[in-house]
Amino acid sequence: MIIKGAYVLKSYKDEPQKLDLKISNGKISKISENLIENDEEIYFFDNKLITPGLVNTHTHVAMSIFRGIAEDLPFNEWLFKTIEPLETKLNDEIVYWATLLSLMEMASNGIVAFCDMYMFENSVAKAVSEFGMKALLTRGLVDLDGNGKGRLKETFELIEKWNEHDNRIFVGLGPHASYSCSINYLKEIANISKINDLVVTMHLFENHWEKERYNLKEILDTGIADNHFLAVHCVHVDSDDLKLLSKFNTFISHNPTSNLKLGNGIAPITDMLKNEINISFGTDGPASNNSLNVLFEARLATLLQKKDNPQHMKIEDVLKMLTVNGYNALKLDGGLIQEGKYADLTIFDLDTPSFFPTKNMKKHLLHSTPKVYATMVNGKFIYIDGKFPTIDSKEVYRQFTNSYKKVIGIEN
Ligand SMILES: [Zn+2]
Repeated sequence: MIIKGAYVLKSYKDEPQKLDLKISNGKISKISENLIENDEEIYFFDNKLITPGLVNTHTHVAMSIFRGIAEDLPFNEWLFKTIEPLETKLNDEIVYWATLLSLMEMASNGIVAFCDMYMFENSVAKAVSEFGMKALLTRGLVDLDGNGKGRLKETFELIEKWNEHDNRIFVGLGPHASYSCSINYLKEIANISKINDLVVTMHLFENHWEKERYNLKEILDTGIADNHFLAVHCVHVDSDDLKLLSKFNTFISHNPTSNLKLGNGIAPITDMLKNEINISFGTDGPASNNSLNVLFEARLATLLQKKDNPQHMKIEDVLKMLTVNGYNALKLDGGLIQEGKYADLTIFDLDTPSFFPTKNMKKHLLHSTPKVYATMVNGKFIYIDGKFPTIDSKEVYRQFTNSYKKVIGIEN
């Protein structure tokens, strides 16, 4: 396949330039000013801007089934009184359709890869496999109800069946949080991570009350961050915590919308950057956001940090968080448009009022409202010009609506 005529932003550091791309076997095989090749599938993308694909480093995709049902509630009422009781009604089929709906939403927002933590993760993997996106999947691990071993067994089954599937699906370990896992359970998970070289991702200090159970040192002493630790939220961390975290192979997923909407606060991103911690963006689940759009998260995060100093969160830093840092957090190779890299691309439509003057198009990616035209993963379009070529979107809408009725029990 050849893509001709587009502006290409090869990395967060570069400026867009007119370049042609050749894609073979899922990877970018040639980048040149004027590629002339015969007998190829050719796309003429004049008036398009191609960037490295965007990454969503934290979500619970199947929670789209709960979108809009629990609004204006504090975190404890939202999670423990509203969401958790409804989660008992989920099953493989419901999670499969709810996942497909979320994949459609993410693809239409330019997302090529994401990290998920939830239940019925085998169905999430099936949906991701069919849809064509890239993902790091984790079964949410909790042991306070006595089923910690059972959830670890599900994780091993997930690894056996899906890890490294099609160079797109990877499996990690997902301890839910330090308030839902015992110290011994965290130690066991840490050990499994080290032996099998698996990413660990966990909600960390999303709420002010979490430290009352275990402080950061007690959590890190379990070994949970010794291998590759993707900590989610980190809203309630002080400078000592950040210094401690920076000594480990820590990656932080910043989810500003969910943190604000559930009344949990604003993470100290500027301090994290001073400690040279790898920060990326997550949407969190669609029941607490309620959308799956990392560009919006990036814009919100930037504005929140600029409120005291407009020199914080420069465009290059933020584009790096959306791309290279996202891949690093998921322990994947990517985030750059280079020969030999996987063709994971986000393609924006420049024929949009908000992209003019086009000379400043790189800035518009963050501070204006860009429109995604197409999304490609490993050389295949998963979204193009309003359509989802890998699935039957009408069937997803129909089955999702049926699933919603089964969970909520009312006519939608
Ligand atoms: Zn979450």
